[in-house]
Amino acid sequence: MPESHPAPLRSLKFLGTAGARFAVSTQIRHSGGVVWRLGDFTIWVDPGPGALVRALSSRPKIDPSRVDALVVTHRHLDHSGDATAVVEAMTRGGFARRGTLLAPRDALEEEPVVFRYAQKFVDRRLVLSEGSRHELAPGVVLETPLAHDHGVETYGYRLATDGLVAGHVIDTFWMDALPAAYAGVDLLLVNTTRAKGRDRRYLHLGADDAEALIAAIRPRLAVLTHLGMQLPPLAAQAAAQAISARTGVATVAARDGWLLDLDQLPVSGGAAGGPG
Ligand SMILES: [Zn+2]
Repeated sequence: MPESHPAPLRSLKFLGTAGARFAVSTQIRHSGGVVWRLGDFTIWVDPGPGALVRALSSRPKIDPSRVDALVVTHRHLDHSGDATAVVEAMTRGGFARRGTLLAPRDALEEEPVVFRYAQKFVDRRLVLSEGSRHELAPGVVLETPLAHDHGVETYGYRLATDGLVAGHVIDTFWMDALPAAYAGVDLLLVNTTRAKGRDRRYLHLGADDAEALIAAIRPRLAVLTHLGMQLPPLAAQAAAQAISARTGVATVAARDGWLLDLDQLPVSGGAAGGPG
């Protein structure tokens, strides 16, 4: 979309699409997380290393002082490296106490990924847990249906707002409970770190797992993100196309900087509105 067009009212910005250590430490993909803009309400999820810089240099620019909620799904570096920087930017260094911080208890207390002094800068500090439900603003509800199998306390989330439900399957080893936990969503994001999953050394989903999820859930659009070294852009795109072809569900691989218009999702089973 040319930059002169007005930004969509409801959108999802991929500030980063990197998954796991090597993609992050080389910045072969960015690790800024994703930013949901739902009308006047903005949610930043999983700001890894460099997130603040990616936000400030993105076009259109994301103004951190207008972010209303920060979600950290778990305390791994690629999801939380810039979390304190984001809280400082959200709250103007603590001088403008505002916003909501959501994270698992172990990421707030055991190993605070937002430094303790900065946790005091937000208006609300909410603890994510299995089955937790948080109304972040009137009509904007975030739920964490399932504790994931990922070594540290980890939650994916469902985000519901006026006429739209999205699900984001964050890092996990395959669980048979995943399809039911994220069922019924219009948009499904899957953190697809590897080409093949089910290797307990990694505790990450593979493209094969993503396909099983997409085939079971059948969202209007599926997006592969949090992509690791096995899934550079062309391989990720090929994996997404293969999933589309086999499942009939529009599936794309995210790329850094992509702005997805949430009001232009495919009706169902149609051609993918890709991040080209
Ligand atoms: Zn992780």
